[in-house]
Amino acid sequence: EPHVAKFVYDFTEGNKDLKDLLGGKGANLAEMTNLGLPVPPGFTITTEACKVYLESGEEPAALRDEVSAHLDALEQRMGKKLGQADDPLLVSVRSGAKFSMPGMMDTVLNIGLSDKSVQGLARQAGDDRFAWDSYRRLIQMFGKTVLGVDGDLFEEALDKAKEAKKVTVDTDLEAADLKKLVTAFKKIVKKEAGRDFPQDPREQMDLAIHAVFDSWNTDRAKLYRRQERIPGDLGTAVNVCSMVFGNLGPDSGTGVAFTRDPASGHQGVYGDYLQNAQGEDVVAGIRNTVPLAELEQIDKKSYDQLMQIMATLENHYKDLCDIEFTIERGQLWMLQTRVGKRTAGAAFRIATQLVDQGLIDEAEALQRVTGAQLAQLMFPRFDENTKVAQVGRGIAASPGAAVGKAVFDSYTAVKWSRSGEKVILVRRETNPDDLDGMIAAEGILTSRGGKTSHAAVVARGMGKTCVCGAEELEVDTKRRRMTVPGGHVVEEGDLISIDGSSGKVYLGEVPVVPSPVVEYFEGRMHAGANDADELVEAVHRIMAFADRKRRLRVRANADNAEDALRARRFGAQGIGLCRTEHMFLGDRRELVERLILADTETEREESLKALLPLQKQDFVELFSAMDGLPVTVRLLDPPLHEFLPDITELSVRVALAESRQEPHENELRLLQAVHRLHEQNPMLGLRGVRLGLVIPGLFTMQVRAIAEAAAERKNAKGDPRAEIMIPLVGTVQELEIVREEADQVVAEVEAATGVELKLSIGTMIELPRAALTAGQIAEAAEFFSFGTNDLTQTVWGFSRDDVEASFFTAYLEKGIFGVSPFETIDKDGVGSLVKLAAEAGRKTRPDLKLGVCGEHGGDPESVHFFHEVGLDYVSCSPFRIPVARLEAGRAAI
Ligand code: ADP
Ligand code: MG
Ligand code: MG
Repeated sequence: EPHVAKFVYDFTEGNKDLKDLLGGKGANLAEMTNLGLPVPPGFTITTEACKVYLESGEEPAALRDEVSAHLDALEQRMGKKLGQADDPLLVSVRSGAKFSMPGMMDTVLNIGLSDKSVQGLARQAGDDRFAWDSYRRLIQMFGKTVLGVDGDLFEEALDKAKEAKKVTVDTDLEAADLKKLVTAFKKIVKKEAGRDFPQDPREQMDLAIHAVFDSWNTDRAKLYRRQERIPGDLGTAVNVCSMVFGNLGPDSGTGVAFTRDPASGHQGVYGDYLQNAQGEDVVAGIRNTVPLAELEQIDKKSYDQLMQIMATLENHYKDLCDIEFTIERGQLWMLQTRVGKRTAGAAFRIATQLVDQGLIDEAEALQRVTGAQLAQLMFPRFDENTKVAQVGRGIAASPGAAVGKAVFDSYTAVKWSRSGEKVILVRRETNPDDLDGMIAAEGILTSRGGKTSHAAVVARGMGKTCVCGAEELEVDTKRRRMTVPGGHVVEEGDLISIDGSSGKVYLGEVPVVPSPVVEYFEGRMHAGANDADELVEAVHRIMAFADRKRRLRVRANADNAEDALRARRFGAQGIGLCRTEHMFLGDRRELVERLILADTETEREESLKALLPLQKQDFVELFSAMDGLPVTVRLLDPPLHEFLPDITELSVRVALAESRQEPHENELRLLQAVHRLHEQNPMLGLRGVRLGLVIPGLFTMQVRAIAEAAAERKNAKGDPRAEIMIPLVGTVQELEIVREEADQVVAEVEAATGVELKLSIGTMIELPRAALTAGQIAEAAEFFSFGTNDLTQTVWGFSRDDVEASFFTAYLEKGIFGVSPFETIDKDGVGSLVKLAAEAGRKTRPDLKLGVCGEHGGDPESVHFFHEVGLDYVSCSPFRIPVARLEAGRAAI
């Protein structure tokens, strides 16, 4: 049979696994339909149809007929025709991409109403007010989203109507007022869009469908996708859904709910409900919603049914769901569900709660959390005992502790943050136009809206601190200020602090304290607030799941005993990178200077001799902190000039001394050395193994310090496991020369101390040539450690220190990178070299140990890659270790 494209699916035809094709909303509407839940009938136009439309500018040829066929079927089922004059079928046209994009794509309700059918609707419902309210909503939404009319114009007309009537809420407007408003709205459309509001229902529907397709490519949608790393070519589906009405009086209403608390994971009744309202009213903060629990008093039957449906959904999706529902004259309808967004803490708690409920297993629990969430939980929090004045409290919408200058519009937020200021974006409520500002801000504070408001949903998605609905704050965006209880006025630029975990708002800067999760990893967790205990318990269990599953070992980058001990507490299984250059700073600078300035062999040897015991002591401490675990020590890597004073500063010193006729022989020698060692491009200059080959005695001194330290530890009944690592090798010959010298020194130390050391010697792979000749290099190396920072610089040919500030933003904006290659490994380029070198190295030496040091070792996506290419371990900074452990566990599933 020839393949015939199918562009339209009835809700009864789809299911939750068809998100690519039907979008998240469509797939889940189908799933709920098939579960037998009360979903208003409708159909979904696929993302494939959208893609064709976006590529060609036209609907696919077959679409119109397919839509007609599905519309006919819908009309038959409902017993009325779209826009039928005496009894109109009305529909909503709703966007819905694979990934939920809150507020990005606009929905048009009440399609099918016209000057004629509004009368029919009024008669059928026995309610004039309702019919005209629905009609004015249609013109408003259609005008704004389909015809591109400025939405404020409608809002202003609505405000005027309320003022004229001396009422404050829209429900107090009567049929006659709304009828007048319809006339006003139609005038606005005519004037602004240059055309009449279409009276033909099918034309309304088709235009709305095209508008949904087009909305995929609005700037707002593109920005959101970039932010959330959603691919740009997925397209959106369109759902056509028969209308149900929450605006039919007090026995009707609309609401949103979560099957459990998205902040704590606790089971209970969480949501908001608004009587006599339609669609977005409940999240837009137009009138005050009531907590969902109050629905029990308002309409017990619907409430009970809703609770039952929520339980069904949780058991079915085996996860927290959020839902949208409407009650029409006592009849409950489900309009949307999806697996709900949640805070990082709730993700851990919910995952373990679901394991306890027997709904999911450990492996699945690991898939329910991410390293990014864990990292977020490790951020410091506000000190609860602060004396800084609390001026308000809103809803804890998205956790974190944010301090910044108050700004009252998105533009200022972006501008100030670009010039390096930390800002808090303060709004009455946010809408999609505030997205840039929300991204730029440290945190978001609103005075209206609940846990499901735009600000809350978007902030949670971005992992940004948010307090919403802080009602006692009077936000005046026009005058750029906010008045707090007691009358104090916060002006633009005043420092405020917001706590997204408690909802508290402070005037001034609140000091921060470590998070309970860090306290737990540090082993300092003492019984505290229940909340923190629950969180720590969940993290503890999830980490245990991850440790049981993972194959990758996790080591730390640490240069001293203190960091090593912390890394060990955080679960490090060794040190993957000890940078010895840090041991050449401070008091020892002078010795290093002497080494660099040495004119004679004796001078050089003397300074090396002076450095030796100091280096050795460092290693004794490090090996004892990491007793029983491997410690990879990298020999000196950076160019020597880094250890000399700054050239300008030094020139000034010399000039001053000269003019004062003071002795300045040393300064002068230093200055000459600085000039001698100056390199145009130090990153590609005299550094790494090249130093070892050019400065006699330098590497052997370091090797001796390592060997003697190891011998001393062994004599003290310790278990040192030192590994010596040679940096920046490009060819096996370099490694062979250094290695021969090192082996000799180790043999000398063994002979002198009578201790057998078994030190292994390996190399970093951080130059393309090293990766390409890894098979040869493995002849002389017992291990490879991929230095992916340098490898990224050398493969791409750009210097990290220079390019991140200069052109990376442009590259990110143009979509050349989805993310900086220094943050997440560039799998196609740098990654394929890693893979190639790993394979070639293992071919030469099957027991070659493979690891990675460099920032990528603690980056979630990169950790998955390193797991896949078969490395033995990743090494990262101590604070990233829990993240790497978790992601290594997730990668192994
Ligand atoms: P979003 O993706 O922004 O949530 P939706 O398509 O869910 O957009 O619709 C916006 C609002 O309109 C929601 O509150 C939804 O419940 C409501 N809505 C959508 N379709 C219908 C319908 N057929 N009948 C009643 N309300 C609807
Ligand atoms: Mg919705
Ligand atoms: Mg390097």
